[in-house]
Amino acid sequence: MTHAILTLNAGSSSLKVSLFPADGDQPMASGVVDRIGAAAEIRLKDRDGQPIATEGSLASHAEAISTVIAGFRGHWPDLALLAIGHRVVHGGPSRTAPVGVDEGLLVELERLSSFAPLHQPHNLAGIRAAMEAFPGVQQVACFDTAFHRSQPWVNDAFALPRQLFDEGVRRYGFHGLSYEYITGELARIAPQLAEGRVVVAHLGNGASMCAIQNGRSVASTMGFSALDGLPMGTRCGQLDPGVLLYLMDQKGMNAAEISDLLYTKSGLLGLSGLSNDMRTLEAAGTPEAGQAIDYFVFRCQRELGAMAAALGGIDALIFCGGIGENSRLVRARICERLAWMGIEIDHGRNAANERVVSSELARTTVMVIPTNEELVIAGGARAIAGRLGQEAA
Ligand code: ADP
Repeated sequence: MTHAILTLNAGSSSLKVSLFPADGDQPMASGVVDRIGAAAEIRLKDRDGQPIATEGSLASHAEAISTVIAGFRGHWPDLALLAIGHRVVHGGPSRTAPVGVDEGLLVELERLSSFAPLHQPHNLAGIRAAMEAFPGVQQVACFDTAFHRSQPWVNDAFALPRQLFDEGVRRYGFHGLSYEYITGELARIAPQLAEGRVVVAHLGNGASMCAIQNGRSVASTMGFSALDGLPMGTRCGQLDPGVLLYLMDQKGMNAAEISDLLYTKSGLLGLSGLSNDMRTLEAAGTPEAGQAIDYFVFRCQRELGAMAAALGGIDALIFCGGIGENSRLVRARICERLAWMGIEIDHGRNAANERVVSSELARTTVMVIPTNEELVIAGGARAIAGRLGQEAA
């Protein structure tokens, strides 16, 4: 038997999948299904980069999941899934760790959909689809909010009437699976730094920063929703709430229209009028693309200052995410005016994409660590499946 753990990350029209061996960290296969519901496309590869053949419908998440598994079964005829781990964006105030899925949990998580309307429903649809396709397999929910539940009250609250806090209107923070991975990696490669004051900048299409003290989240730039903090590919980042009042009062926009504006038409795309993709903006050379990058860099510097203030200083800055891991330009520019924080980039190391990109004598270590959310999900699923298996025995 080939025992394995499947991880699923279901977005609005995409599904990212990885298949891990029962007790290993290197995926046996991974891939993505894009544009589910329209002109869907599937790309699956095994660990040698060989395409995995698939046949079947991709019209819905449920069908895409079945098609993916059928493809894996074709490749490994004796495949036995031990558990399926799901990325779930919102676990609410009480979920601090991965948990086995049952009907009660799904009801609890569905109630949180209004907190993350663009992500949560798709995550839950992915779980339901996997339950339907594989009723006997343990499903495990791994939350993007869980890592941040250690934050102190002052970072958890908004200065709004308390009743709203009690209803759940708080700062949750997201990208927690990525921060958990980076925290673990740092503890492995630089244990002394991991015990100190660390800011992790997860800069991808979604972007946020997290202030971490001795492995625990102290503050993060994302708040109640995945809109706050840094500007992103198509999301606005921090915004004066007065702008929303103006849009409603003066422009007559309703909630759906404002949501569409803030989630899908803003950020790098809105500012550049060109693209949400940093590579395209770096190559474009238009004034608007330049300003979009300037804005992104400036807000990263501001929020980095805020994260360092929350920690009372900074020992290490870690870049991850598509932009953080790959854009030498953005990394160099963010670090440009941060000598006062002890941050000095070594341009040679940065250009070579080395793991440590700060200069030898800099007070603050700057590193690039590729993130791996799938591995954290697989670890969560493995732990829960193992525990429940032991309890049942
Ligand atoms: P997501 O948040 O959707 O997982 P990613 O972490 O994959 O996104 O990040 C996507 C972003 O990373 C895009 O803006 C892309 O342009 C950027 N990116 C990837 N490679 C490079 C590169 N070599 N140089 C600059 N930006 C890059």
